[in-house]
Amino acid sequence: MRILVIEDEPQLARHVVRGLVRHGHEAATEHDGAVGLKAALEHPPDLIILDLNLPGLDGFSVLARLREAKCPVRVLILTARGEVEHRVKGLKAGADDYLAKPFSMEELVARVEALGRRAAAPPTSDLLQVADLQMDLQHRRVTREGKLIALSPREFDVLQVLMQEPGRVFSRTELCERVWQRDHEYDTRTVEIFITRLRKKVDAGFADALIHTIRSVGYSLRPAG
Ligand code: CA
Repeated sequence: MRILVIEDEPQLARHVVRGLVRHGHEAATEHDGAVGLKAALEHPPDLIILDLNLPGLDGFSVLARLREAKCPVRVLILTARGEVEHRVKGLKAGADDYLAKPFSMEELVARVEALGRRAAAPPTSDLLQVADLQMDLQHRRVTREGKLIALSPREFDVLQVLMQEPGRVFSRTELCERVWQRDHEYDTRTVEIFITRLRKKVDAGFADALIHTIRSVGYSLRPAG
């Protein structure tokens, strides 16, 4: 994978780049948020490892600008241990995954490769459809009533799991395992954030909601009625 590391601590950035290269990835680094954003928009990498506290432009703003520009790159944010609100804010802003500092190289590589596997997974069938919602797996495009819905890579993954088995109820834990492959402790709050993000994009503004909450069980995607 081509990976851009936006991290202002030079030692940490060098350590991360070295580890990624050792595992067969191409990695470049930027130390300033604004410069990193420009680099990412000019030559979108497959994945960005994004620190949140950055000079130039902070990580949340970098993330917001990337998503505004509909840049489909996967983003892994680096958060300080215990900063739950940063993780929540980052996921809400469109991050695909997060890792708390300090982390081991093994943890980072596992996370990076899990994100890569999802991107490279061969689709089972090319087109999924539930009511007026369509998902083109080959081109990773989602439309509703023919209107394009821009999703982040992880939002797409969550929606794909739901659309592959319409009507089936998925528990939060099961969704976590399907999408994040349980290579780390994920709490169910992460799933809730992604469902909220998906509802805003997939259901808001349409007459019928497709994403349903089954109280104290989980979530299901199916036509209304
Ligand atoms: Ca920093």
